[in-house]
Amino acid sequence: MFNPKKLRTPRLIRWLQFVAALVMTSLPSLAQNTSMHVPPVIDVHVHAMDGSFPGAVPMCPNTSKFTASDPRDKEAPFGWVQEDCTPKLYPAANGEYMKDVLAEMERLNVTAVVFGDPKGVEKWKEAAPNRVIPGAGFQEGMGGGKRVALDELRKSFAHDGFKVMGEIGLQYEGLSPSDLAVDKYFALAEELDVPVAIHMGTGGSGRANIAMPGFRGSKGDPLLLEDLLARHPKLRVQVMHAGYPMIDNMLTLLQANSHVYVDVAGLIWSYPLKEVNRYIERLVDAGFEDRVMFGTDQLVWPKLMSYSIGIIQNADYLTSDQKRDILYNNAVRFLRLDGKESK
Ligand SMILES: [Zn+2]
Repeated sequence: MFNPKKLRTPRLIRWLQFVAALVMTSLPSLAQNTSMHVPPVIDVHVHAMDGSFPGAVPMCPNTSKFTASDPRDKEAPFGWVQEDCTPKLYPAANGEYMKDVLAEMERLNVTAVVFGDPKGVEKWKEAAPNRVIPGAGFQEGMGGGKRVALDELRKSFAHDGFKVMGEIGLQYEGLSPSDLAVDKYFALAEELDVPVAIHMGTGGSGRANIAMPGFRGSKGDPLLLEDLLARHPKLRVQVMHAGYPMIDNMLTLLQANSHVYVDVAGLIWSYPLKEVNRYIERLVDAGFEDRVMFGTDQLVWPKLMSYSIGIIQNADYLTSDQKRDILYNNAVRFLRLDGKESK
C-alpha cells in the first residue's frame, strides 16, 4: 500500500502537489457531469428535429381521452382532448431544441438512437458523439412514397457509421412492411447485419382522415411482419410503438420470433396512463421482459424524455431489474452495444 507518511518531506510535498493538481483538474468535470451517478438509459426512438416548431403549444401527456368530432364542424388535426395539467411540457424555444434535448440526455445519462435524414442526424452526432447512435431510413419524408436510393443507404451504413435502419413508416403510406416493393431495403439490412426499426401500431392521432389520409391502422398489425421475417430470417426487428393496441398479435409475433423486440415510444405518453401501464405489463407478464425497450419518439418538448423515464421508474408492476432491462439492458443486447455508448 502507498503510505505518504513514510515519504521524506520534499517527496511528500511533491505528492501533495500532485494530488492537489489531480483534484483541481477533475473538479470542473465533476461539477459539469451531473449524470455521473445516474444509471444509464437508452432511448431507442428519437427524431433529429431541427428546432423550430411554429404553432407548437404546451402539451399535457397521457391525456384521458380522444374526443369525438363531427365532420360538419371544423375539426382539429389531432383528436386528443384539451386538458390542463401540471406541469405542462413546453416546446423548445426557436433554434434551441437540439441543444435542450442533448442537455437533458446529459443530465439523465441517456444515449439515444436518433433517426432522420442523414445530414440532420450527423448534426446531432457531431454535437454529442458519445450520446447519439445514428439511424437512417429509406423514406424521404413520411407518407409521400419517395425512396432513398439503395446505394445511398448502403453508403450510410457501410461507410458513414449509421447503425439502425429506421424509422420505417410504411403504415403512413398504407403499405405492409412485407410489401415486395420495399423488400430490397430489408435485404440490405439483413446483408449488412443492421437492425431495422419499423413503425407498427399507433398513429392517426384521432384524425387520420384529415391529417394523414394514407395512414392505415390495419397496416400496423404486428403479424404483417411475418412474411418479411420469413424471407429474412436473420433480420433483427424493432417494432416501434409495440404494435399498440394489437397486443395479442404482438405477443404472437414475439413468441414466434426471438429476435423481434418492441419499443414503447409514443404510446408511453400519448394514451391514458392506465392503458399504457396495462399494455407494458401485459408484454412483461407474457414473458417478454427481455424484449421491451424504452423509447420516447422525442419531438418538440425537451422534457418529454424525463417524463417518460418516470413512467417506467414509477411502474409498481415492474421489479427494479425489469425496469433496468427496459430502460437499458434490452437495448444494449438488441443494438449489440458494448456499454461504452453511455457513461
Ligand atoms: Zn413512429
